[in-house]
Amino acid sequence: MALRNIRKQGEEILSKRAKEIREITPRIEELAQDMLETMYDAEGVGLAGPQVGILKRIVVIDISEERNDPIIMINPVITESEGTQTGWEGCLSVPGKSGQVTRPEKVRATFIDIEGNECEIEAEGFLARAVCHELDHLDGHLYVEKVEGRLYDNSELQSEQEEEDDEPAGDGEVKA
Ligand SMILES: [Zn+2]
Repeated sequence: MALRNIRKQGEEILSKRAKEIREITPRIEELAQDMLETMYDAEGVGLAGPQVGILKRIVVIDISEERNDPIIMINPVITESEGTQTGWEGCLSVPGKSGQVTRPEKVRATFIDIEGNECEIEAEGFLARAVCHELDHLDGHLYVEKVEGRLYDNSELQSEQEEEDDEPAGDGEVKA
């Protein structure tokens, strides 16, 4: 396993549509493991192929506090969505920033797991947000395009939080 270099906003690959994975080869398995390692190392909750320079439809997500509940999704597709939620989001490709984004409250998605099984997931709340954020990466979109209001510097939010202590924002827990 190895850490991969995380691509940053402005790099062309982040605005391209990623391609379907036709076969789960040893290289894809290695990519998935490297993506998990890279996500954990960067303290993110999700990472998509294009973010490590690979234009393929694969994402990894782990929203658990213990960092022991990884989901690897190959060729994921959102099939249903319901409701809305508005909350803070950040991205490993846009370091140090956060913004408010509205996403569905619940989504259902199909995908292939790393063993090649067809899977379906029902995600709610923060997991639904993470799934939507990562799948956007596969279509060449960053959350900053969807931010309501403006993009904040995390340092700015932390100092506001110290003063007001009411918004759970800018603590770096939402990087994806
Ligand atoms: Zn992201």
